Amino acid sequence: MRYEGTVYRPPSEAGSLIIQLTIGCARNKCTFCNMFKDKKFRIRKLDEVVEDLEMAREYYKDYHVRRLFLADGDALIVKTKDLLYIIDKIHAIFPECERISAYGAPADVNLKTDEELAQLKKAGLDMIYMGAESGDDKVLADVKKGVTAAEIIKAGKKLKKAGMLVSITLISGLGGKERVYEHAINSAKLISEIKPEYLGFLTLIVEPGTELYDDYKAGKFELLGPVEVLQELEVFIKNVDSEGTVFRANHASNYVPLRGTFNKDKDIMLAQIEKAKKAGRFKPEMFRGI
Ligand code: SF4
Repeated sequence: MRYEGTVYRPPSEAGSLIIQLTIGCARNKCTFCNMFKDKKFRIRKLDEVVEDLEMAREYYKDYHVRRLFLADGDALIVKTKDLLYIIDKIHAIFPECERISAYGAPADVNLKTDEELAQLKKAGLDMIYMGAESGDDKVLADVKKGVTAAEIIKAGKKLKKAGMLVSITLISGLGGKERVYEHAINSAKLISEIKPEYLGFLTLIVEPGTELYDDYKAGKFELLGPVEVLQELEVFIKNVDSEGTVFRANHASNYVPLRGTFNKDKDIMLAQIEKAKKAGRFKPEMFRGI
Protein backbone atom coordinates (compact mmCIF):
# COMPACT_ATOMS: atom_id res chain seq x y z
CA MET A 1 0.00 0.00 0.00
CA ARG A 2 1.08 3.53 -0.62
CA TYR A 3 -0.34 6.17 1.66
CA GLU A 4 -0.30 9.82 0.73
CA GLY A 5 -0.09 12.32 3.63
CA THR A 6 -1.83 11.80 6.96
CA VAL A 7 -4.61 9.24 6.71
CA TYR A 8 -7.70 9.63 8.92
CA ARG A 9 -10.24 6.98 9.82
CA PRO A 10 -13.11 6.76 12.30
CA PRO A 11 -12.12 5.31 15.72
CA SER A 12 -14.22 2.21 15.08
CA GLU A 13 -12.15 1.42 11.96
CA ALA A 14 -8.98 0.93 14.02
CA GLY A 15 -8.67 -2.69 12.92
CA SER A 16 -9.60 -2.12 9.26
CA LEU A 17 -7.43 -2.15 6.18
CA ILE A 18 -7.42 1.42 4.90
CA ILE A 19 -7.19 2.09 1.18
CA GLN A 20 -7.16 5.63 -0.23
CA LEU A 21 -9.68 5.92 -3.03
CA THR A 22 -9.54 9.69 -2.94
CA ILE A 23 -6.87 12.04 -1.68
CA GLY A 24 -8.02 14.85 0.59
CA CYS A 25 -11.47 16.41 0.88
CA ALA A 26 -13.37 17.77 -2.12
CA ARG A 27 -14.67 20.68 -0.06
CA ASN A 28 -11.97 21.44 2.45
CA LYS A 29 -13.77 24.58 3.62
CA CYS A 30 -15.05 23.77 7.13
CA THR A 31 -13.65 26.40 9.48
CA PHE A 32 -12.86 23.94 12.31
CA CYS A 33 -11.14 21.24 10.24
CA ASN A 34 -7.52 20.96 9.25
CA MET A 35 -7.46 17.27 8.37
CA PHE A 36 -6.80 17.71 4.67
CA LYS A 37 -5.58 21.29 4.39
CA ASP A 38 -2.24 20.08 3.02
CA LYS A 39 -3.80 17.96 0.28
CA LYS A 40 -5.16 18.99 -3.09
CA PHE A 41 -8.24 16.88 -3.70
CA ARG A 42 -8.20 14.21 -6.38
CA ILE A 43 -9.79 10.90 -7.13
CA ARG A 44 -7.07 8.31 -7.53
CA LYS A 45 -6.69 6.34 -10.73
CA LEU A 46 -8.57 3.10 -10.30
CA ASP A 47 -5.57 1.05 -11.46
CA GLU A 48 -3.50 2.56 -8.64
CA VAL A 49 -6.16 1.65 -6.09
CA VAL A 50 -6.28 -1.92 -7.37
CA GLU A 51 -2.48 -2.09 -7.16
CA ASP A 52 -2.74 -1.00 -3.52
CA LEU A 53 -5.29 -3.73 -2.86
CA GLU A 54 -2.95 -6.30 -4.39
CA MET A 55 0.01 -5.00 -2.37
CA ALA A 56 -2.10 -5.19 0.79
CA ARG A 57 -3.09 -8.78 -0.04
CA GLU A 58 0.56 -9.69 -0.39
CA TYR A 59 1.37 -7.99 2.91
CA TYR A 60 -1.58 -9.53 4.74
CA LYS A 61 -1.45 -12.92 3.05
CA ASP A 62 -1.66 -14.70 6.39
CA TYR A 63 -4.37 -12.44 7.83
CA HIS A 64 -8.11 -12.32 7.41
CA VAL A 65 -8.98 -8.79 6.33
CA ARG A 66 -12.52 -8.62 7.61
CA ARG A 67 -13.04 -4.87 7.34
CA LEU A 68 -11.91 -2.32 4.81
CA PHE A 69 -12.27 1.47 4.98
CA LEU A 70 -12.12 3.61 1.85
CA ALA A 71 -10.33 6.87 2.65
CA ASP A 72 -9.80 9.87 2.35
CA GLY A 73 -12.50 12.47 2.89
CA ASP A 74 -15.36 11.34 0.71
CA ALA A 75 -15.45 8.14 -1.31
CA LEU A 76 -19.04 8.78 -2.34
CA ILE A 77 -17.96 11.58 -4.65
CA VAL A 78 -16.57 8.85 -6.92
CA LYS A 79 -18.84 7.82 -9.81
CA THR A 80 -21.07 4.89 -8.89
CA LYS A 81 -19.76 2.67 -11.69
CA ASP A 82 -16.17 3.23 -10.47
CA LEU A 83 -17.15 2.55 -6.87
CA LEU A 84 -18.83 -0.67 -7.96
CA TYR A 85 -15.68 -1.65 -9.84
CA ILE A 86 -13.50 -1.10 -6.76
CA ILE A 87 -15.94 -2.91 -4.46
CA ASP A 88 -15.90 -5.90 -6.84
CA LYS A 89 -12.09 -5.87 -6.81
CA ILE A 90 -12.08 -5.76 -3.00
CA HIS A 91 -14.25 -8.86 -2.86
CA ALA A 92 -12.15 -10.64 -5.49
CA ILE A 93 -8.88 -9.86 -3.70
CA PHE A 94 -10.21 -10.16 -0.13
CA PRO A 95 -13.01 -12.73 -0.32
CA GLU A 96 -13.04 -12.83 3.48
CA CYS A 97 -13.94 -9.11 3.74
CA GLU A 98 -17.19 -8.73 5.69
CA ARG A 99 -17.61 -4.96 5.78
CA ILE A 100 -16.65 -2.07 3.52
CA SER A 101 -17.17 1.47 4.78
CA ALA A 102 -16.29 5.05 3.88
CA TYR A 103 -16.87 8.68 4.80
CA GLY A 104 -19.77 10.21 2.92
CA ALA A 105 -20.42 13.94 2.71
CA PRO A 106 -24.18 14.68 2.82
CA ALA A 107 -24.05 16.64 -0.47
CA ASP A 108 -22.51 13.68 -2.27
CA VAL A 109 -24.98 11.22 -0.77
CA ASN A 110 -27.78 13.44 -2.07
CA LEU A 111 -26.26 13.46 -5.57
CA LYS A 112 -26.65 9.68 -5.75
CA THR A 113 -30.05 8.28 -6.68
CA ASP A 114 -31.80 5.79 -4.39
CA GLU A 115 -31.10 3.13 -7.01
CA GLU A 116 -27.37 3.91 -7.03
CA LEU A 117 -27.15 3.71 -3.24
CA ALA A 118 -29.08 0.44 -3.25
CA GLN A 119 -26.67 -0.93 -5.89
CA LEU A 120 -23.68 0.10 -3.77
CA LYS A 121 -25.16 -1.52 -0.69
CA LYS A 122 -25.94 -4.70 -2.62
CA ALA A 123 -22.36 -4.76 -3.92
CA GLY A 124 -21.03 -4.54 -0.36
CA LEU A 125 -20.70 -0.91 0.74
CA ASP A 126 -22.19 -1.50 4.16
CA MET A 127 -21.57 1.59 6.23
CA ILE A 128 -21.19 5.34 5.74
CA TYR A 129 -19.72 7.75 8.29
CA MET A 130 -21.29 11.15 7.85
CA GLY A 131 -19.96 14.26 9.58
CA ALA A 132 -23.08 16.28 10.39
CA GLU A 133 -21.32 18.36 13.08
CA SER A 134 -24.56 20.19 14.01
CA GLY A 135 -28.27 20.20 13.33
CA ASP A 136 -28.46 23.99 13.57
CA ASP A 137 -28.49 25.83 10.24
CA LYS A 138 -26.78 28.93 11.66
CA VAL A 139 -23.92 26.85 13.09
CA LEU A 140 -23.63 24.88 9.83
CA ALA A 141 -23.46 28.14 7.86
CA ASP A 142 -20.99 29.73 10.30
CA VAL A 143 -18.59 26.78 10.03
CA LYS A 144 -19.03 26.68 6.22
CA LYS A 145 -20.21 23.08 6.21
CA GLY A 146 -21.90 23.73 2.87
CA VAL A 147 -25.15 21.93 3.70
CA THR A 148 -28.29 22.61 5.72
CA ALA A 149 -29.77 20.40 8.42
CA ALA A 150 -32.56 19.44 6.00
CA GLU A 151 -29.98 18.27 3.46
CA ILE A 152 -28.14 16.22 6.10
CA ILE A 153 -31.44 14.62 7.18
CA LYS A 154 -32.26 13.84 3.54
CA ALA A 155 -28.83 12.21 3.08
CA GLY A 156 -29.15 10.16 6.29
CA LYS A 157 -32.58 8.90 5.29
CA LYS A 158 -31.40 8.00 1.80
CA LEU A 159 -28.55 5.91 3.20
CA LYS A 160 -30.90 4.14 5.60
CA LYS A 161 -33.41 3.50 2.83
CA ALA A 162 -30.60 1.82 0.87
CA GLY A 163 -30.02 -0.46 3.86
CA MET A 164 -26.62 0.96 4.80
CA LEU A 165 -25.50 1.43 8.38
CA VAL A 166 -25.22 5.14 9.17
CA SER A 167 -22.76 6.59 11.65
CA ILE A 168 -23.05 10.31 12.36
CA THR A 169 -20.64 12.65 14.08
CA LEU A 170 -21.63 15.80 15.97
CA ILE A 171 -19.29 18.26 17.67
CA SER A 172 -20.01 19.60 21.16
CA GLY A 173 -19.32 23.29 21.50
CA LEU A 174 -19.33 23.99 17.76
CA GLY A 175 -21.86 26.80 18.18
CA GLY A 176 -19.70 28.50 20.79
CA LYS A 177 -21.41 30.33 23.64
CA GLU A 178 -23.73 32.10 21.23
CA ARG A 179 -25.55 29.00 19.93
CA VAL A 180 -25.30 26.50 22.83
CA TYR A 181 -29.01 25.86 23.14
CA GLU A 182 -29.83 25.93 19.40
CA HIS A 183 -26.90 23.65 18.58
CA ALA A 184 -28.06 21.12 21.18
CA ILE A 185 -31.77 21.19 20.45
CA ASN A 186 -31.47 21.22 16.66
CA SER A 187 -28.86 18.46 16.73
CA ALA A 188 -31.31 16.40 18.80
CA LYS A 189 -33.98 17.04 16.13
CA LEU A 190 -31.57 16.00 13.35
CA ILE A 191 -30.68 12.72 15.06
CA SER A 192 -34.32 12.03 15.98
CA GLU A 193 -35.21 12.40 12.29
CA ILE A 194 -32.42 10.20 10.91
CA LYS A 195 -32.21 7.65 13.74
CA PRO A 196 -28.72 6.51 12.72
CA GLU A 197 -27.30 3.21 13.93
CA TYR A 198 -24.34 5.03 15.49
CA LEU A 199 -23.72 8.53 16.81
CA GLY A 200 -20.37 9.88 17.93
CA PHE A 201 -20.01 13.14 19.83
CA LEU A 202 -16.61 14.81 19.68
CA THR A 203 -15.83 17.95 21.64
CA LEU A 204 -14.47 20.93 19.77
CA ILE A 205 -10.75 21.61 19.90
CA VAL A 206 -9.68 24.67 17.92
CA GLU A 207 -6.58 23.83 15.99
CA PRO A 208 -3.98 26.25 14.66
CA GLY A 209 -4.21 26.61 10.91
CA THR A 210 -8.02 26.73 10.88
CA GLU A 211 -10.31 29.72 10.37
CA LEU A 212 -12.03 28.94 13.64
CA TYR A 213 -8.73 29.16 15.51
CA ASP A 214 -8.15 32.62 14.03
CA ASP A 215 -11.70 33.66 15.04
CA TYR A 216 -11.08 32.34 18.54
CA LYS A 217 -7.80 34.23 18.82
CA ALA A 218 -9.48 37.39 17.54
CA GLY A 219 -12.20 37.04 20.20
CA LYS A 220 -14.91 36.39 17.60
CA PHE A 221 -15.63 32.86 18.83
CA GLU A 222 -16.00 31.82 22.48
CA LEU A 223 -15.13 28.27 23.44
CA LEU A 224 -17.29 26.42 25.96
CA GLY A 225 -15.76 25.25 29.22
CA PRO A 226 -16.26 21.65 30.38
CA VAL A 227 -19.39 22.41 32.42
CA GLU A 228 -21.00 24.24 29.50
CA VAL A 229 -20.12 21.37 27.16
CA LEU A 230 -21.85 18.96 29.55
CA GLN A 231 -24.88 21.25 29.89
CA GLU A 232 -25.15 21.32 26.10
CA LEU A 233 -24.94 17.54 26.01
CA GLU A 234 -27.65 17.31 28.67
CA VAL A 235 -30.05 19.34 26.51
CA PHE A 236 -29.20 17.10 23.56
CA ILE A 237 -29.73 13.84 25.42
CA LYS A 238 -32.98 15.01 27.05
CA ASN A 239 -34.43 15.98 23.68
CA VAL A 240 -33.19 13.24 21.39
CA ASP A 241 -35.51 10.39 20.45
CA SER A 242 -33.58 7.81 18.48
CA GLU A 243 -34.44 4.34 19.67
CA GLY A 244 -31.58 1.90 19.22
CA THR A 245 -28.86 4.41 18.27
CA VAL A 246 -25.51 3.43 19.77
CA PHE A 247 -24.10 6.60 21.30
CA ARG A 248 -20.42 7.24 21.97
CA ALA A 249 -18.83 10.32 23.49
CA ASN A 250 -15.66 8.59 24.63
CA HIS A 251 -13.27 10.15 22.14
CA ALA A 252 -9.94 11.69 23.18
CA SER A 253 -11.52 15.13 22.79
CA ASN A 254 -14.37 14.55 25.27
CA TYR A 255 -14.16 15.90 28.81
CA VAL A 256 -16.20 13.03 30.28
CA PRO A 257 -16.44 9.61 28.59
CA LEU A 258 -20.02 8.53 27.92
CA ARG A 259 -21.48 5.58 26.10
CA GLY A 260 -24.85 3.95 25.88
CA THR A 261 -27.80 3.16 23.66
CA PHE A 262 -30.72 5.52 23.05
CA ASN A 263 -33.32 5.78 24.43
CA LYS A 264 -32.87 3.19 27.17
CA ASP A 265 -29.61 4.57 28.59
CA LYS A 266 -30.49 8.27 28.50
CA ASP A 267 -31.16 8.51 32.25
CA ILE A 268 -27.95 6.64 33.10
CA MET A 269 -25.89 9.01 30.95
CA LEU A 270 -27.65 12.08 32.35
CA ALA A 271 -26.82 10.83 35.86
CA GLN A 272 -23.16 10.39 34.83
CA ILE A 273 -23.08 13.95 33.51
CA GLU A 274 -24.61 15.27 36.72
CA LYS A 275 -22.07 13.36 38.80
CA ALA A 276 -19.14 14.66 36.74
CA LYS A 277 -20.40 18.24 37.03
CA LYS A 278 -20.83 17.96 40.80
CA ALA A 279 -17.37 16.41 41.25
CA GLY A 280 -15.81 18.86 38.78
CA ARG A 281 -13.88 15.93 37.37
CA PHE A 282 -13.06 16.45 33.68
CA LYS A 283 -10.28 15.30 31.39
CA PRO A 284 -7.50 17.91 31.68
CA GLU A 285 -6.95 20.02 28.55
CA MET A 286 -3.44 18.62 28.14
CA PHE A 287 -4.86 15.11 27.65
CA ARG A 288 -7.52 16.10 25.14
CA GLY A 289 -6.85 15.49 21.48
CA ILE A 290 -8.47 14.98 18.08
S1 SF4 B 1 -15.03 18.40 8.13
FE1 SF4 B 1 -15.17 16.91 6.46
S2 SF4 B 1 -16.13 18.07 4.76
FE2 SF4 B 1 -15.35 19.58 6.23
S3 SF4 B 1 -13.28 20.11 5.50
FE3 SF4 B 1 -13.05 18.46 7.04
S4 SF4 B 1 -13.05 16.57 5.85
FE4 SF4 B 1 -13.85 18.17 4.50
